[in-house]
Amino acid sequence: MRVLGIEGTAWCASAAVFDDAGGDVFVESDAYEPDSGGIHPREAAEHMGEAIPQVIARTLARAREEYGPDPIDAVAFSRGPGLGPCLRIVGTAARALSRTLEVPLVGVNHMVAHLEIGRHLSGFDSPVCLNASGANAHLLGYRDGRYRVLGETMDTGVGNALDKFTRHVGWSHPGGPKIEAHAEGGDYVELPYVVKGMDFSFSGIMSAAKAAYDDGVPVEDVCNSLQEHTFAMLTEVAERALSLTGTDELVLGGGVGQNDRLRGMLGEMCAARGAEFYAPEPRFLRDNAGMIAVLGAKMAAAGDVVAVAESAIDPDFRPDEVPVTWRDDGES
Ligand code: ATP
Repeated sequence: MRVLGIEGTAWCASAAVFDDAGGDVFVESDAYEPDSGGIHPREAAEHMGEAIPQVIARTLARAREEYGPDPIDAVAFSRGPGLGPCLRIVGTAARALSRTLEVPLVGVNHMVAHLEIGRHLSGFDSPVCLNASGANAHLLGYRDGRYRVLGETMDTGVGNALDKFTRHVGWSHPGGPKIEAHAEGGDYVELPYVVKGMDFSFSGIMSAAKAAYDDGVPVEDVCNSLQEHTFAMLTEVAERALSLTGTDELVLGGGVGQNDRLRGMLGEMCAARGAEFYAPEPRFLRDNAGMIAVLGAKMAAAGDVVAVAESAIDPDFRPDEVPVTWRDDGES
């Protein structure tokens, strides 16, 4: 089965085709880069409206070159969570394509797709997943036909917290890579470390980091300490999730997962407890349509398709709302 995936939850307009027979996936993406400040929902939607037709056209042209005139068996799209104005554009494009190409429509949960691309590429059976992205931060584990949220942020996503600090400093979006670059050689200063049970909080640490910078603490020290604190919090809860579920496989998802220090901490923790750790390559960590096409193919193969009339987007779509129909031990 060959599936066209379309992603557009926020900043990344992306289309991909995945062939589950050959395992091949090719992806075309076009990123929104704000002139100043963070992601503005209206500007992001304007970018999405312009870029989505182009990335889809390029992807379909390539699919026709590779596979012939009717290359697509299903259209999958990210249904949420994300920015409503962006999701509506992607949903409309996907519905129109499904009707035009006369193929089924598949509505994919973007956060479950972050998990499933890691599971697909690693070959792990039933891993715990740490999703560390801009708008989200949570641990997922599978039980009884659902991916359960084992722990999550009580306020902002981890990437959004990093981006808010860099905006305060006057650096352009996205902030995460700049924090990583400036953390090199920085010293450690104390910031709030907030883990409550299986949940964590990033808003206090972000405010404290801004205050430290305003008080004259060198920006390299603040960047280094932001990474050490936030990533240690994520690693602590990831370890507890492995321990509580008895799982010895961890996968990473989300754009913050591109950070070497986070991957290093998680790898070290897993090695210390005899668990395996897998982080996809960066193009499959940040938002991308490859993961939508891969999960879309699994769902379509399981008959988990959606009628156009019932395919409304959901900006607050939680991963634990999704019946997992595509695993042997999932719901049907
Ligand atoms: P989601 O909808 O899955 O929450 P998103 O729209 O936030 O995703 P992602 O591509 O998953 O998008 O993540 C973007 C975030 O990743 C931004 O906050 C960005 O600063 C952060 N990021 C990117 N590279 C790095 C890095 N090297 N270190 C830390 N953070 C990074």
